[in-house]
Amino acid sequence: MTRLVVVGASLAGLRAVEGVRKAGFTGPVTLVGAEEHLPYDRPPLSKAFLDGPVAAPVFREEQVLRDELGVELVLGIRAHALDPAERVVHAGEKEIPYDGLVIATGATARTLPGTSHLAGVHTLRTLDDALAVRAALDAGARTVVIGAGFIGSEVASAARKRGLPVTVVEAAPTPLMRAIGAMGEPCSALHRANGTDLRCGVAVTGVEGHDRVERVGLADGTTLDADLVVVGAGAVPATDWLAGSGLTLEDGVVCDETLATGLPGVYAAGDVARWANPLFGRAMRLEHWSSAAEQGAAAGVAAALPGAAKPYETVPYFWSDWYDSRIQFAGVPDADETQVVLGDPDEGRFVALYRSGDRLTGVLAVNKQREIMKFRALIARRTDWSGALDFAARRREPVSEGVR
Ligand SMILES: Cc1cc2nc3c(=O)[nH]c(=O)nc-3n(C[C@H](O)[C@H](O)[C@H](O)COP(=O)(O)OP(=O)(O)OC[C@H]3O[C@@H](n4cnc5c(N)ncnc54)[C@H](O)[C@@H]3O)c2cc1C
Repeated sequence: MTRLVVVGASLAGLRAVEGVRKAGFTGPVTLVGAEEHLPYDRPPLSKAFLDGPVAAPVFREEQVLRDELGVELVLGIRAHALDPAERVVHAGEKEIPYDGLVIATGATARTLPGTSHLAGVHTLRTLDDALAVRAALDAGARTVVIGAGFIGSEVASAARKRGLPVTVVEAAPTPLMRAIGAMGEPCSALHRANGTDLRCGVAVTGVEGHDRVERVGLADGTTLDADLVVVGAGAVPATDWLAGSGLTLEDGVVCDETLATGLPGVYAAGDVARWANPLFGRAMRLEHWSSAAEQGAAAGVAAALPGAAKPYETVPYFWSDWYDSRIQFAGVPDADETQVVLGDPDEGRFVALYRSGDRLTGVLAVNKQREIMKFRALIARRTDWSGALDFAARRREPVSEGVR
């Protein structure tokens, strides 16, 4: 009988397990995770979880995983090698044989070199990180966030909600260029409107203190006093354990359209996977919740049920919540042109479209939750630019009674 092993016990790994059971797979399933915790959800960690003493956002109880989904849980043990010739995963002292394997080891937060000895300096990737950041906020920390990306911005928002002083330092002249391209500026205006001190175009020269962090030095000569420093400098795919396995590792595990890695029975999913997205005709590695969930389910089924592999395509999508605003993006951010088509950035409610060549390739919505999926569907249908502008113009027209 086929044995399915899933390495990485988070969103993509859990969805792999759930996906195969839903597809009728009855064989043995082993879920290996480096963290002691049951699989939990990460987006709340930089949002509601920071606001007060809420419980860990665990997806499913242990009994459900073991008894209802029939999963052998191997938690708190890191896989350290993959032997594709023997079809074995090495994790701690264990040798775990597989017929089908899903690699779902996600990504690891980038740290700031030279700060590991300082208490009060954190990244925010895991539940343990979030507990430490929340405790510091509970203690009224003066906070410096390094990097004005989405997670750093959410931490700043959580600090401001509590009325704490927070400075966000960003080396680039405009935040979020890589994530949402030219529209980073109107989003970062939310920081200033909510009392966060945003400093762009300035590098951090040092994080100082004895045992604890005390201050952050900037290239313009400024010094910022700090009790809490959160480093939001992005994440790198967790592929170290796969060195020497024969997999192609290039900013992630390289996969084809079906998430197959090229090694027999081995698929990858989630933040660790760089796969060929047929919809855009290019390889992508996403760090978004919805694609990690979908890829997990697809890779699980492909690995466990021979012949079931299908191309996985998607219009990338993510959201972020800062202050009282919801920011959503779909598509790809590199564009020849962006145009605000609905609402007004000055009012903090708008939709901007992104054009590449003659095609609509991206959409950003700020506090326009009813719009984003409509434009995402246009991107999926490969709508051309003039078609997208026409559609937006119709969305601007007043709606006559009884018609929608
Ligand atoms: C704080 C935070 C907030 C976020 N907010 C949003 C949001 O608002 N919207 C959005 O779209 N996305 C958001 N994301 C991104 C989203 O959570 C990720 O895309 C998703 O968690 C990826 O799931 P994954 O299973 O691929 O990887 P991960 O969640 O990174 O999980 C990988 C798991 O594998 C384990 N692992 C790693 N190496 C090994 C090994 N060698 N052996 C065994 N186990 C291993 C890790 O410990 C980890 O538990 C957020 C992420 C974070 C961290």
